[in-house]
Amino acid sequence: MAIASNLGFPRIGDRRALKTALEAFWSGRAGEGELIAAAARLRAEHWNRQRRLGISHIPSGDFALYDHVLETACMLGAIPPGYGWTGGPVPIATLFALARGARGTEAGIAPTLPALEMTKWFDTNYHYLVPMLAPDQRFVLTENRPRAAFEEALAHGVRTRPVLLGPVTFLKLAKREDGGDTLALLDALLPVYAEILTGLAEAGAHWVQIDEPCFALDLTEAERSAVSRAHAALAAAAPRLSILLASYFGPLADNLPTALALPVAGLHLDLARGAADLDAVLEGARADLWLSLGVVDGRNVWRTDLRAALATLRRVADRRGTRRLMVAPSCSLLHVPMDLEAEDALDPEVKSWLAFAVQKLAEVATLARALDEGEGAVASALKASDAAVAGRRGSARVHDPAVAARAAAADPPGRSAPYRDRRIVQRRTLALPPFPTTTIGSFPQTEAVRRLRADRAAGRIDDDAYTEAMKRLIAEAIAWQEEIGLDVLVHGEFERNDMVKYFGERLSGFAFTKHGWVQSYGSRCVAPPIIWGDVARPAPITVAWTAYAQSLTTKPVKGMLTGPVTMLQWSFVRDDLPRETVCRQIALAIRDEVDDLQRAGIRMVQIDEPAFREGLPLRRADRRRYLDWAVACFRLAAGAARDETQIHTHMCYSEFNDIIAEIAALDADVISIETARSRMELLDAFASFAYPNEIGPGVYDIHSPRVPAAEEMVRLLRIARRRIPADRLWVNPDCGLKTRRWEEVRPALANMVTAARTLRAELATE
Ligand code: GLN
Ligand code: ZN
Repeated sequence: MAIASNLGFPRIGDRRALKTALEAFWSGRAGEGELIAAAARLRAEHWNRQRRLGISHIPSGDFALYDHVLETACMLGAIPPGYGWTGGPVPIATLFALARGARGTEAGIAPTLPALEMTKWFDTNYHYLVPMLAPDQRFVLTENRPRAAFEEALAHGVRTRPVLLGPVTFLKLAKREDGGDTLALLDALLPVYAEILTGLAEAGAHWVQIDEPCFALDLTEAERSAVSRAHAALAAAAPRLSILLASYFGPLADNLPTALALPVAGLHLDLARGAADLDAVLEGARADLWLSLGVVDGRNVWRTDLRAALATLRRVADRRGTRRLMVAPSCSLLHVPMDLEAEDALDPEVKSWLAFAVQKLAEVATLARALDEGEGAVASALKASDAAVAGRRGSARVHDPAVAARAAAADPPGRSAPYRDRRIVQRRTLALPPFPTTTIGSFPQTEAVRRLRADRAAGRIDDDAYTEAMKRLIAEAIAWQEEIGLDVLVHGEFERNDMVKYFGERLSGFAFTKHGWVQSYGSRCVAPPIIWGDVARPAPITVAWTAYAQSLTTKPVKGMLTGPVTMLQWSFVRDDLPRETVCRQIALAIRDEVDDLQRAGIRMVQIDEPAFREGLPLRRADRRRYLDWAVACFRLAAGAARDETQIHTHMCYSEFNDIIAEIAALDADVISIETARSRMELLDAFASFAYPNEIGPGVYDIHSPRVPAAEEMVRLLRIARRRIPADRLWVNPDCGLKTRRWEEVRPALANMVTAARTLRAELATE
């Protein structure tokens, strides 16, 4: 019998129930007991739901109140001092202090503790908290959480498959205070894992899933042997348990021999991203090794082509029989929305091509059944799948020949002159002072601004009234920017809900969900757009707003666009075209927008690419290709700009060292980056590379409500001057100001202008 199984279920619940419960607790509206009860209700509901869908291996321990890596760290006693943990089960106040920083009111918790660092979980848009370990870290089992979850499910009548984050991946994701090698702590950690497994066996678990997605990364020999050592120890510690080792997010590739040699009962394969492993697995796997075949893509929202998936399953079954097979999603379903049925406003044709977590598990169950009972048993499901596949393939709405032809054609000409020539023209036409001041685009999204958009969406005000109100906001913003003396102005982005959504809603080929929430971190969720068809721009998007702003001032107004790589990265992308092709289509649409802006008299256009680095593949060997097409797409988008049109880009993160050559290859005239917090450290990468174009290192940390003094920004700019020639430096905040309040933004930007003037005076006396 093939086993229908799941690796992880979305935690957030229908209608973001977990978010509601967390926020009620944080705000003091609900007590701890209510939060714990809400979480237990969600888990019970999710177990039952999976059972009803026909899943036999249902995970437990995949739930987390905030983040599973953080909860693993807490379980292992890896809690830095000061957060209020003194032994035994970790208090909820400690958990949230680690997740969100301390508020200073909780007993035993220092008043000003920072949250743990947060970073991306592999190449997903989920973020985890980075465990911070001491060089001599001691681990203790504070509470056998997987066992508790297993027993909780058992009480609901569900014998689950407990899930654990594996010891090697845990250590690889953690950091050591002294920057040392976290894997050196493996021997200290393994006894705790052994204790967890022993407890699970005692409680009556049969299978345990241990996640080691580090297998999808480049591993050193030392790391591979750490995995071997760790799993030999765990297998020995719990001989009665069947361990399923799960890796996902990419092929095992050169790590495959290590994985196949582990003394585990089963191995999970991500066949959405790692199909290339399958031949070698069939060749090399022990006859008694269970294989969990992740044929249903857990990272994307498309319906599975059941016939194709079944062909893959059959291939394996023909070789090995069906006795030791599991059918599964490729990875945890944490990364897709919950239930497509909740989408009552989606275009019905598009909807018929989609599957969210619930639908994906139904597919898994169908496939397992087909394997056991033959295709006849699932004939209607196969027929529906065939229809969806054929419908999508043949849809005239998906395939726009004009877009395809344009994307396939040779690149239209890019910027004709090199930067050093453009610079001369731009200096003449723009006539900016040294250290020009500007902002990154958005101004505070006040309650009034949001209400305006909501009123229009609900039909409470008509388009004319909306446009008039928006124009008033823009006019106020322009007047105010002139008053404090900024050199390059922006219109303020008041019309935008979100930098990707705003553009996606105005391009063809994008769909938006009502409830398609995916956890980004903690209670924060995003509802990514779905790119389902060829992307084209039916009409100009930003030109009217930007041109209106420019009509009010003689100073240059900078147009604001979201770049093609960021649009791609923050969406669910169609799987019937290479990502780079979709990105090219978006780039061409943005290119037209750039051209229309300059034709309307706009002299500067910023193309934001905050997600440029996020797209980097997990494996070094794949990075070159990605960087090549990502750079090409940006250049394609910017390429319509005439010499005198100044192209800006913006990236708000703090690692550039390994991609600095590609950042230079984007050939934006100006780049603004986030540097305020790191005190300009980031500029080292630009300085040592001798970055040739202009740079605006952020001098105002927009993540904090604090208003920086002019003197502080002067100090940062002086540091910047030591690394970057004065005639290439711009003065700007770290990022957009939409989350800030006007009371902070006004004085902060006024101080920023003062700081720039101080620098100008210093330059004049040199
Ligand atoms: N122009 C955008 C803004 O100012 C940029 C946002 C971002 O970098 N994430 O909000
Ligand atoms: Zn930013």
